[in-house]
Amino acid sequence: MACMCSDQKFMYDLLVIGGGSGGLAAAKEAVNLGAKVAVLDFVTPSPRGTTWGLGGTCVNVGCIPKKLMHQAALLGEAIHESAAYGWQVPDPKTIKNDWQALTTAVQNHIKSVNWVTRVELRTKKIEYFNALGYFKDQHTICGKMKNGEEKLFTAKNILIAVGGRPRYPDIPGALEYGISSDDIFSLEKAPGKTLVIGAGYIGLECAGFLNSLGYDATVMVRSIVLRGFDQQMANTIAQEMERRGVHFIYQAKPSKIEKQTDGRLLVNWVDKERQTHQDIFDTVLFAIGRKPLTEELKPENIGLQLVPETAKIEAIDEQTNIPNVYAVGDVLHKKPELTPVAIHAGRLLARRLFGNSTEQMDYVNVATTVFSPLEYGCVGLSEEAAIAIHGEDKIEIYHAYYKPTEFFIPQKDVSNCYIKVVAFRNGDQRVLGMHFIGPNAGEVIQGFAAAIKCNLTFPKLKDTVGIHPTVAEEFTRISVTKRSGLDPKPQSCCS
Ligand code: FAD
Ligand code: NDP
Repeated sequence: MACMCSDQKFMYDLLVIGGGSGGLAAAKEAVNLGAKVAVLDFVTPSPRGTTWGLGGTCVNVGCIPKKLMHQAALLGEAIHESAAYGWQVPDPKTIKNDWQALTTAVQNHIKSVNWVTRVELRTKKIEYFNALGYFKDQHTICGKMKNGEEKLFTAKNILIAVGGRPRYPDIPGALEYGISSDDIFSLEKAPGKTLVIGAGYIGLECAGFLNSLGYDATVMVRSIVLRGFDQQMANTIAQEMERRGVHFIYQAKPSKIEKQTDGRLLVNWVDKERQTHQDIFDTVLFAIGRKPLTEELKPENIGLQLVPETAKIEAIDEQTNIPNVYAVGDVLHKKPELTPVAIHAGRLLARRLFGNSTEQMDYVNVATTVFSPLEYGCVGLSEEAAIAIHGEDKIEIYHAYYKPTEFFIPQKDVSNCYIKVVAFRNGDQRVLGMHFIGPNAGEVIQGFAAAIKCNLTFPKLKDTVGIHPTVAEEFTRISVTKRSGLDPKPQSCCS
């Protein structure tokens, strides 16, 4: 353990504002290195009144409930397929998901994680306060408790890890009648026919699991699907969702939501020709991006600079323009809004502050997965980004369709099982990006992300012996280049 001498002037060596992925990771690492640490965490209720416990977005209203609902959806799919494998299941049409049972199970799991997190903080002697923090000066935070009482905390170092919350559009009825990802995982009543506005990660994932759970789901797309991702892969995902029954309304923006006498919601939207359309839904879910919770910190009290367009913090090596004030996670400008990114950056920062480390966070080549019904995992550059950066002549795109073995017996549609490798065409043929659509995409792409970090080259990928029969081995079999114009469809399962 590195030696830590608490500065007597301050109550803490590190005060963390925000008990989510990044804040808790930094707090735990700092205390392990001998620092005196406190964490303030406070959840302002959503416009609909939903609130939750300690642990931040990922645990309460993000990755975890989302993955559990995705799993519920996959299980429903598996039940339907199992008859083809000899399972004697009742008529598939009679099999239904019980929304209340699902949300209760999901919420019970979350509560257990909240509890374990609190116990862990206590055991590690990290002081936790359920208080909303804001800056008084650069070493002093005022924490407002639930009962309105205010308490001052002083610290040598302050870490901002306050994350963000869903945005709502400025249209009539949005706040009154809409919900967001903050509400969906604990919604008391089954969502029914749902309009999901926004076609980013959250929009696609929510529409995907709702459709698979048996609810009519529509995605309203303002421009393109999954901005920032490889667009061929993104469109393949949307195509697969459509094939499964999700509706898409393209080039459309909502303009008004009204509640009808029967409680259902009448939604108006405008298309690119400025024509107005309307339809009735039971639930309208906004997934139009997230707003960082930085204004609430009263940044003006210490001269903390925010990026005007995003209200995010542009930190250099997680240090803000105020030398003793740091930031990690979703509040950082132009950094991936992903849990492992927040955790890794928080841990490394604590090691630099209290453990004599010099190791910096590497935000490049962070792998990610969209948990759409057929998942999409990727790491590194998209086809278009690679071409834009290096030029078409320098880039080779390898691609292939494939047939997962387990899809054969239930005769599942394989038309969108597709992979792509983006590599330099010459020299060492370094791999710049890998893209996978298919089952267990996150599991598949994680290992390849490590390989890319080790400078994987295309010849090395081809020299890797596959594990048969898996879907991940398809990357070791890939050989058709887009440039060749050859058919990327699979010839046989085992050749
Ligand atoms: P958060 O986890 O948001 O924690 C911030 C905490 O600070 C919150 O508890 C907040 O209430 C509290 N707080 C805010 N202001 C104050 C204040 N002034 N005082 C005290 N406390 C305050 N990422 C993945 O990697 N994989 C996924 O599959 C994935 N799925 C997601 C699904 C959804 C629906 C959503 C919304 C997000 C998902 N994410 C996923 C993103 C991931 O949840 C975030 O990147 C991650 O939680 C960010 O961590 P953080 O520490 O920056 O902030
Ligand atoms: P995104 O920024 O990914 O997507 C927002 C979507 O909403 C875009 O399609 C955008 O369209 C659209 N949009 C924006 N403003 C409006 C508007 N006024 N009216 C209509 N549509 C609008 O945000 P999300 O909320 O989906 O996700 C936030 C972050 O959370 C992600 O970036 C991701 O990092 C993280 N996350 C990670 C997950 C994972 O790892 N699996 C899962 C879920 C979230 P346009 O393209 O036109 O701007």
